[in-house]
Amino acid sequence: MQKVTPERARVHNTQLVFRTIYREGPISRAAIARATLLTRPTVSDVVAGLIEQGMVEEVGLAPSSGGRRAILLRAVADSRYLVGVDLAREEFCGALINLRGEIKERLTLPLDGRDGDAALALVFDLIDRLVDSTHVPLLGIGVGAPGLVDAENGILQQSVNLSWRHIPLRSLLQKRYDLPVYLANDCQVAALAEYTFGDDRERNKNLVVINVRWGIGAGIVVDGQLLHGNPVGAGEIGHVTVVDGGERCACGNYGCLETIASTRAIIRRAQEIARSDPSSPLHQFAADPESITMEAVCQAFNAGNEAVRQVVNEAGRMLGISAASLVGVLGRCRLLIAGNVRCFGQFLLDAVRDEMLQRTLLSLARDTEVGFTSLGSDIVLLGASALVLPHELGDSQL
Ligand SMILES: [Zn+2]
Repeated sequence: MQKVTPERARVHNTQLVFRTIYREGPISRAAIARATLLTRPTVSDVVAGLIEQGMVEEVGLAPSSGGRRAILLRAVADSRYLVGVDLAREEFCGALINLRGEIKERLTLPLDGRDGDAALALVFDLIDRLVDSTHVPLLGIGVGAPGLVDAENGILQQSVNLSWRHIPLRSLLQKRYDLPVYLANDCQVAALAEYTFGDDRERNKNLVVINVRWGIGAGIVVDGQLLHGNPVGAGEIGHVTVVDGGERCACGNYGCLETIASTRAIIRRAQEIARSDPSSPLHQFAADPESITMEAVCQAFNAGNEAVRQVVNEAGRMLGISAASLVGVLGRCRLLIAGNVRCFGQFLLDAVRDEMLQRTLLSLARDTEVGFTSLGSDIVLLGASALVLPHELGDSQL
């Protein structure tokens, strides 16, 4: 155990008081003392420091309860920014985000086929520009990256598409910016975003976010903690076989979930439909089969095309198989899907849910909510910043 020095006690008290104001504000000094069990003079001292640093402000008076009306305090959302970085897209994206998860500044740099050291240089370029663009003090940098990420040691173990292997990203960034740095796999980060900033915070339930993008992975939050694996690999459901003797996957195996339910697989299957059927409505939404995008698939789906609906149904059912396994491990949970398959709406969710219901204990599956995440395409950016927040404010659960 570390020794409790006066300096450590001061930091601890400051974090505790700020956290209380952040969560409960507007709140009076007396109420903070009651909630934290700190003495009134200590609270007043710490609050004075926080006001001086601009992190807390006085916002008026509490309703009268007979005596003198207490002054209320609240956290200043824009007093510190977090740097959030999403490296799991076709382009690199970064943002400055305030303490309430509002994006204040956003920057996207195209990858243009870069990988290896060139892609790493682009990460520096992106963060350089964000850091230079503000005078607001920065609390830290959070990164959501594709592939196997060792969050504890801050190492990108492997990212196939970017040709990265064993990159000590945390120490590289810490050295360059002199800020705390946190990283995790993009799917895990997405789950943390939903947990921290999502609309409907049912925090008592375990949460699974299945991120359906070019690949597929799941982020899992149990009792408010992100499940990383030891040290990596929790939620890597994309390469679990769901079709015996199915198509060959990039990983070398056959019939992985990704071969049938990823956006890459959905697009490829739509292309096959367009090639084999000259009268397919897909031709209305794309000049030729090769240029079919998710947008075109969604348009054909919404136009009621039966072949495309079949593809979506199968993708949903295969996701349902994975969902059943997750429910088998975690029990009742909230199971949310992220990514642009959202355009398939309730039809996709019903396919996931029906399959899950057939494959697991009814009482567990029935109480498992299946839905879409509430955060849209910024989910990884927000989650990356949410990696920083609790660490820097001295708590794992804000
Ligand atoms: Zn695979």
